[in-house]
Amino acid sequence: MAIYVNRVLNMKQIKVIGFDMDHTLVRYHSDTFEELTFNEAIKKLKNDLDYPVDIDHFSFNFKDAIRGLVVDKENGNILKVSLYNKIKNSYHGSKKLNYKEQQKTYLGSSIDLGDPRYLSVDTNFSIAFTIIFSQLVDLKDKKPQLELPSYAELADHALYAVDIAHRDGSLKEEVKANLEKYIIKDEKIVKALERFKKYGKKLWIVTNSGYAYTKALLDYTINPFLKEHQDWTELFEVTVTLAAKPRFFSDKLSFLKVDEKTGMLENYDKKVIPGIYQGGYAPKLQKDMGYLGSEILYLGDHIYGDILKLKKTCDWRTALVIEELDSEVKAYKDTKYISIEIDKLMEKKTALEAELDDLYAKEHELNEQIDKTIVNKKFDEVVAIDKELAKHIKEYESHFNEKWGEVMRAGAEPSVYAHQIEKYACIYMNNIADFYDHSPRMYFRPSKRKLAHEI
Ligand SMILES: [Mg+2]
Repeated sequence: MAIYVNRVLNMKQIKVIGFDMDHTLVRYHSDTFEELTFNEAIKKLKNDLDYPVDIDHFSFNFKDAIRGLVVDKENGNILKVSLYNKIKNSYHGSKKLNYKEQQKTYLGSSIDLGDPRYLSVDTNFSIAFTIIFSQLVDLKDKKPQLELPSYAELADHALYAVDIAHRDGSLKEEVKANLEKYIIKDEKIVKALERFKKYGKKLWIVTNSGYAYTKALLDYTINPFLKEHQDWTELFEVTVTLAAKPRFFSDKLSFLKVDEKTGMLENYDKKVIPGIYQGGYAPKLQKDMGYLGSEILYLGDHIYGDILKLKKTCDWRTALVIEELDSEVKAYKDTKYISIEIDKLMEKKTALEAELDDLYAKEHELNEQIDKTIVNKKFDEVVAIDKELAKHIKEYESHFNEKWGEVMRAGAEPSVYAHQIEKYACIYMNNIADFYDHSPRMYFRPSKRKLAHEI
């Protein structure tokens, strides 16, 4: 698969390639993993926050949500938003809002994503969280007698439940015990890594996962495919576990040394040398290892945790792994013929509108009498085209997520999620294995972006 370029990146100048682990270096079966998150979070809601047993009937359908949606905590709505912060699609709980209902709440204006009532959901657990929140909203509306908290509190609680499931080890224990169920083995990733080494690149891992979990996953996904190394620890010059990203990039947290064999920790305030650590601080790592920020490329899957802070505080180059990309690109290809039809219809509609404008010009500017039957006929044609267009757009969208459409687009504009990717990632790809299809000396150049007047 291709690697997509937002900003020039010359791989010849990159000396270190750093990787996030979960969902970047190690790929998950996202549907089963999100379902596990969903189930664990339901348990937390009941056990920690005393939610009623009614929530046992909540059901998980991976396709009910996509990454990059925005939750309106005040109104119990879930929104798809364009790069100009305009709402393009919205649901109240799991009930779709029609255009009028949407206009009534949001008045057609742009929303302010800085307002704390809005929550951008773009982590990997966004699917489980969004589904739980939408069903909590449904339950609150359907059974007022349960006296569930406000929509905003429902959102906070759902977020808490998902977060705790991640932090208290419930998910990790289950994953470690059933690696084949949750984790994808991908030989091509290992090939890509070993090829980087042949070209003299140093490889780092900076993960928020602990050492035991990191070791379990890398033993499982990397070691079986190694050709020129014995163990993943030989492949990576530095491994930082429990890195507390994004704070790792901005706060002076101290390093601890991890004993590779026992996992035992030791205080460490000396110069960082090759090895395995816990915690720490990116600028110290970079300085001690003797690299310039521009010589390090860091790959992650999470805009906020992996990329945004890093871009703002360190000078490292950035790459984002977006697992939805594969199916999104395939759907674009499959719908090419529909897009052509839509363009043709739009051309026809534009021509009809121009003809109508000419007729009105005659009436308003030349005081000519115009034949109303001709005007009405043209209007009818426009209406017919609109109907036709709606049909095509529906068919087009059916190739993407049924409820939400494309991940990267909101109508004719990029989605707010795609905009973030464009802003913070120098390059992006579906899977780091995609590097194997390109030379480690590749000069990635973006294509020239056209402005409105250049077309
Ligand atoms: Mg990750």
